[in-house]
Amino acid sequence: MKSPIALAIHGGAGVLKPGRLSEREENDIHAWLHRAIATGHRILEAGGNCLDAVEACVVELELCPWFNAGLGAVFTQAGEHELDAAIMRGSDRNAGAIAGARHVRHPICGARQVMEHSDHVMLGGRGADDFLASRGMTPVDNDYFDTPLRRQQWEEHRHSNGAMALEPTHAEGHKFGTVGAVALDSHGHVAAATSTGGITNKRYGRIGDTPLIGAGTWADDRSAAISATGHGEYFIRTAVAHDIAARMQYGGADLATACDDVVHGELKAIGGDGGVIAVAPDGDTRLVFNTPGMYRAWRDENGVLHTAIYADDDRRYL
Ligand code: ASP
Repeated sequence: MKSPIALAIHGGAGVLKPGRLSEREENDIHAWLHRAIATGHRILEAGGNCLDAVEACVVELELCPWFNAGLGAVFTQAGEHELDAAIMRGSDRNAGAIAGARHVRHPICGARQVMEHSDHVMLGGRGADDFLASRGMTPVDNDYFDTPLRRQQWEEHRHSNGAMALEPTHAEGHKFGTVGAVALDSHGHVAAATSTGGITNKRYGRIGDTPLIGAGTWADDRSAAISATGHGEYFIRTAVAHDIAARMQYGGADLATACDDVVHGELKAIGGDGGVIAVAPDGDTRLVFNTPGMYRAWRDENGVLHTAIYADDDRRYL
């Protein structure tokens, strides 16, 4: 029997309140979100697999300069970009990740290469870049990821308090975040993918939750596929993605309860801001955040695609 399909994506959670973005900027972001989810949706509707769908969505989002992943990744203290990404397949819990890579145009494709063509789950720094070059992924200069907006944000942070800043959770203004996708395919399998530049003005070498399997990214056909966004240090300390799955698998929780209890409970209790997107093998799809907004898009049970920025937002694509 054919399974239902499900798909959700995010472009970061944070202080996103109406009025902060111009109408043109909002429309542009909705259009990018729609393009990304429509790409993954076509794959799933054609009977394609969930891993291809989440990778394709994230590739689109990595091309969007609004989001902090691929082109438009934030700057480190050293004035460069270090990219983290992970991908995981729920059927066998195979996973791949890169951390602190500097020269891979599409970090999510790099993570998939690690999963499918190395003996390892995660490669970091130069080892990741060298491996990906050896796999035929043409390296890009690190300044490929620069955008004027990110440079301006970095200059502001550097000259104000020197602290690192989450995009966009703790930041005022037009700051944008990590990207991710979760999917259920018609074969009944789930997958998750997440990609980020991390946090503005982070120490070089800092690694967040995104590439850590079980923190920012997790997929298991017995529970759910989850991709997170938010202040990574807190997501690591609460193993957010795996905690949601474990509540379902061992505690019998449904997806909505598990996501709510982790994002509004465990995570919030230690001061963690952010959110998750998640799909379960029965098609249940959740987008849960404890911040004012989250860039997001999803497919509803009738096959209609939606995009949203703010808490009560909902644009439908018929
Ligand atoms: N979770 C990411 C990190 O801490 C940041 C984000 O989601 O915007 O690296």
